Amino acid sequence: MKRNDIILIGILLVIAVGAFFYFNNNRKEGDKVVVTIDGKFYKEFPLNKDIETDIEVPGGGSNHLVIKDGYADVTAASCPDELCVHQKSIHSVKESIICLPNKVVVEIKGDAESELDGVAN
Ligand SMILES: [Zn+2]
Repeated sequence: MKRNDIILIGILLVIAVGAFFYFNNNRKEGDKVVVTIDGKFYKEFPLNKDIETDIEVPGGGSNHLVIKDGYADVTAASCPDELCVHQKSIHSVKESIICLPNKVVVEIKGDAESELDGVAN
């Protein structure tokens, strides 16, 4: 085996192990924060990991999403009414923050359903 082959195998192994842990963790993480724009999936984040990110709306708008201590909140937005900013932070499955002008929906979804499906199948 050439040295390059060994490096390549090493890289593949790291990716495989990383993917394994990633998906394994993802399954156990449970609740997710799912962001949709105009009804289309945009991004999802684990609820139990603190992040701060901007949701970029096609056409120029944005909503600032903060996930902290298991709560998701929109803390700033480009929309004129800022109703989404004034909505309470969410942390339970099926709770959502909606920004009508930007057509952004931030919703909490649980993993319980998909896990049950997996068992049933
Ligand atoms: Zn808004």
